[in-house]
Amino acid sequence: MGIEQRYRDMRQEVAETAAACGRAAGDVALIAVSKTVGLEGVQEAIEGGCTVFGENRPDQIMEKYAAFPEVQWHFIGNIQSRRIRDIVPCATMIHSLNHLDHAEKIGRVAEGLGKVQDVLVEVNVSGEESKSGIAPADAVEFVQRCCSIEGLRVRGLMTMAPQGSREAARQTFRGLARVADEVRAQLTPPEAVAFDQLSMGMSEDWPVAIAEGATMVRIGRAIFSDNFTE
Ligand SMILES: *Cc1c(COP(=O)(O)O)cnc(C)c1O
Repeated sequence: MGIEQRYRDMRQEVAETAAACGRAAGDVALIAVSKTVGLEGVQEAIEGGCTVFGENRPDQIMEKYAAFPEVQWHFIGNIQSRRIRDIVPCATMIHSLNHLDHAEKIGRVAEGLGKVQDVLVEVNVSGEESKSGIAPADAVEFVQRCCSIEGLRVRGLMTMAPQGSREAARQTFRGLARVADEVRAQLTPPEAVAFDQLSMGMSEDWPVAIAEGATMVRIGRAIFSDNFTE
């Protein structure tokens, strides 16, 4: 089975899982994380119907956006200040905002391009040292500050779960949903209305993430790898 078919199957499974959780299929976006493949792999996924991709390196998102500007490109990787100028023109959404300096620079670059950049704030729910993201306790203030920056629209939160344990993943996802509720309660319209996205869940743990309220799952290996098994 190739990428095209694996994408179609994953699309179907995500819709079925959403429905089983009492949610509409359209409530959960499938972001195909194409960081391990080149342009041909992206082309195959597009043939399978994929319209939203995720990339974690500036050079990759630039190259792939240039080749396929008709689909959406989400930046999900570590942000370096000096690469913000490269990322913003390509990115429909940036999932990994975790520094105020970056927020300000993204806003400035976006304004210069005449766009408003949608962003998610990355939260380190599990507290693992290896993970980036702001502390849950800082989320309300961080988001409020970002909301005052021109050129930026905060759409929600993102997290990565610890690997290897479904239960630990579930606790992490549940924790992110709780933090999002706390943040939303402190926002007023229009910011409160725009703050409606939870980016959580990868190849190993996406069904749990959907059960806990994910609106975007970021799936790489289960689509692009020939030998991914859970
Ligand atoms: C690589 C990556 C993914 C996809 O991971 P898979 O396990 O391949 O599904 C999701 N989110 C981020 C931030 C990533 O870097």
